[in-house]
Amino acid sequence: MDTKNKGFDTKLIHSGDFENQFGAAVTPIYQTSTFAFKSANHGAALFDGKEKGYIYTRIANPTIDALEHKLADLENGFGAVVFASGMGAVSTLYAAMLKSGDHIVSSAAIYGPSRSLMETFFKDFGVASTFIDTSNLDEIEKAIRPNTKLLYVETPTNPTISLTDLKKASEIAHKHGVLLAVDNTFSSPYLQKPLDLGADIVLHSLTKFINGHADIVGGALIAKDPEIYARLRKTMTYFGANMDPHQAYMVIRGVKTLSIRVERAVENAIKVAEFLENHPKIAWVAYPGLKSHPQYELAKKQMKAPGTMISFGVKGGLKAGKTLMDNVHLALLAVSLGGVESLIQHPASMTHASLRKEARESAGISDELVRFSVGIENVEDIIEDLDNALKMI
Ligand SMILES: *Cc1c(COP(=O)(O)O)cnc(C)c1O
Repeated sequence: MDTKNKGFDTKLIHSGDFENQFGAAVTPIYQTSTFAFKSANHGAALFDGKEKGYIYTRIANPTIDALEHKLADLENGFGAVVFASGMGAVSTLYAAMLKSGDHIVSSAAIYGPSRSLMETFFKDFGVASTFIDTSNLDEIEKAIRPNTKLLYVETPTNPTISLTDLKKASEIAHKHGVLLAVDNTFSSPYLQKPLDLGADIVLHSLTKFINGHADIVGGALIAKDPEIYARLRKTMTYFGANMDPHQAYMVIRGVKTLSIRVERAVENAIKVAEFLENHPKIAWVAYPGLKSHPQYELAKKQMKAPGTMISFGVKGGLKAGKTLMDNVHLALLAVSLGGVESLIQHPASMTHASLRKEARESAGISDELVRFSVGIENVEDIIEDLDNALKMI
């Protein structure tokens, strides 16, 4: 159906649907690597682009197409390209938009591998990078050089939960002829729409909120401009981090409940953050839904709700953090986020342990920092679990 002028929740359910042979209510899985041509002329016309149709699944596939149309619609973009993983999207974005001699400015506290990829492989390919606190707009202005091509922002950041003003950041970038790419994984399009705020490209790890059920990995890039979209698609086709049709089917199924999942998880997160803020063994809580968060007002302006990710400091540092990890039973001790289940992790000893200590500190990750992804269990049970574990410290 045509979902052009329909609401977000209607788009979640119906956008990207296409007519299928038997009237199946859900998008069928076209689990095929290749598509037969009707004739030699038909094959030639498809390769020439004179006729629309499918050739080979790395290039395009109906199930994958359906997901791409849905995601482009949800982010108000021109087109989307999906990937085998979020990192497939990150590496393809870098490869498509940067070449030897170019420079990228990025938020310092981004997803660990996104930063490592730039500081190792892309550095070796001759791309320079500057990692800064993009929540400070003056730092963005100062970091931009004549050869800067891309401003890469994650907001809220991982795992320090600080926000960047996307509207202002895009104005600074565009003034210097720089494109703005935003990793919107922590918010999902339900909470934040970077393209509407001036960004040029949006990135997602579909593994998180969009699929939402911790059962597949996947990634996406969504572009506002047709030429940028074409460049991203071509790069995906050549580098080959393409999604599989079954994976696409899973994400189409998962994303349908995005609004109601995130709505409930945010309700829980607000209560969990308030509980932690009032707990004597907690040193500090970073959650944009608390008045104590320095960007409480910005969160209200740029996000529909403050999200479901909470970072907090346990009094007693590394040892206390580990004790907490070993004594929670409901929250799973795991990386990732944005699923229906609550997850807890301790970056200093887990996700960010591979970063150099200086890089960790410049990204604002202290030994006491714990990250909590609030799920949709009964909030009383989530709080009781944390309360019991905190008693062991
Ligand atoms: C998980 C994550 C990624 C990488 O995605 P994968 O699906 O794990 O490859 C990128 N950015 C952010 C913010 C993430 O949380």
